[in-house]
Amino acid sequence: MSAAAVKGWCPGALRPMLSGDGLVVRVRPFGGRLEAPQISGLAELAERFGNGLIDVTSRANLQIRGVKEESRRPLLDGLAQLQLLDPDADIEARRNILVTPFWSSGDETQSLAAELEEALADSGLALPTKFGFAIDDGRSRVLAGDSADIRIERDRSGRLLVRPDGARLGRSVARGQAVSTALALASWFIISGGARGGRGRMAAHIASGTALPQSLRGETEPAPVMAAARPGHYPQGAMVGVAFGQMLHATLHQFSGCGHALRMTPWRMVLSEGKREMPSGAGLITEPYDPALRVIACSGAPRCREAHADTRALAAALAPRIAADTRLHVSGCGKGCAHSGRAAVTLIATHAGFDLVRNGSTRDEPVLRGLSGADIVSDPSILVGGN
Ligand code: SF4
Repeated sequence: MSAAAVKGWCPGALRPMLSGDGLVVRVRPFGGRLEAPQISGLAELAERFGNGLIDVTSRANLQIRGVKEESRRPLLDGLAQLQLLDPDADIEARRNILVTPFWSSGDETQSLAAELEEALADSGLALPTKFGFAIDDGRSRVLAGDSADIRIERDRSGRLLVRPDGARLGRSVARGQAVSTALALASWFIISGGARGGRGRMAAHIASGTALPQSLRGETEPAPVMAAARPGHYPQGAMVGVAFGQMLHATLHQFSGCGHALRMTPWRMVLSEGKREMPSGAGLITEPYDPALRVIACSGAPRCREAHADTRALAAALAPRIAADTRLHVSGCGKGCAHSGRAAVTLIATHAGFDLVRNGSTRDEPVLRGLSGADIVSDPSILVGGN
């Protein structure tokens, strides 16, 4: 298999994944942030070397879609020029870091992110593919519901702590110890058998009863969790949603227009730094309660070769017809790429129609099978019925 055709659950720029529409090249912005020239540069690369579609992922990354094998090398050269490329694929894979978008200049978020990126690059740790870190060091936590294995947070008094995912309490640390403690936890995870063939996660390891050493054990409760962010104005800038987590290259280009940087989030939203007006563009969601925010859909057909249905067409048709507090996930097959967690309703396309799972994920047992998309649209009560 050529390097360009390497498949994996978490692709990178240096280890792209083959999808139905060509190679998917994932770009991991350093510090969870793109400067204006990087935004316009990425948009141009997506237009020139991809099919013009760009995903924003639940890991707060961007994916350039539809890249041909022969375009891969010039695309990587372009990413290197934009300073968006890691020195090698292993370093890139380890640099799996979520960063709160609600930081302010002068606080510690960006310096913690840079220090963690550097320490991970030097560490040589063989972490599982999905293993990640969260820097969620505001006075209230915003990433608690997002995938991460080691979390740098604060307690109620504002002191930093490091907490393994799945543990209720974290270990209080001075600023200078935060990153080294996070790496010590990662090392302990591997040494104590948590990696499990490259698929293990911290929460499962903690739940299995494996005891932390005294030097890493927590004693401090983290700060409260903030209500879920929505499109709108924040002190740090304007937050907008990206319908189905995908935008056109021209839409991304627009973000660079006035020189504002972009902060990535794992919520299929981006924050245009310092911007006072809401950005507009194809597929952008600016209303805080837009029905499109209730639905998650993977690429689906015809964009993904594994897909059994056009997931986005069905999700768009159903979005206005489901209750405001219902989260619907439409997956083109059982892999559940767009959302690994639970949803009130999950529809999974199969060769024989849609399977329906309530309060679960694509891995759970369906309560109904073989539904047609047209039937669901004409009678959305099927989604929440008591069958
Ligand atoms: S979940 Fe969706 S994007 Fe992922 S492989 Fe299946 S059809 Fe493709």
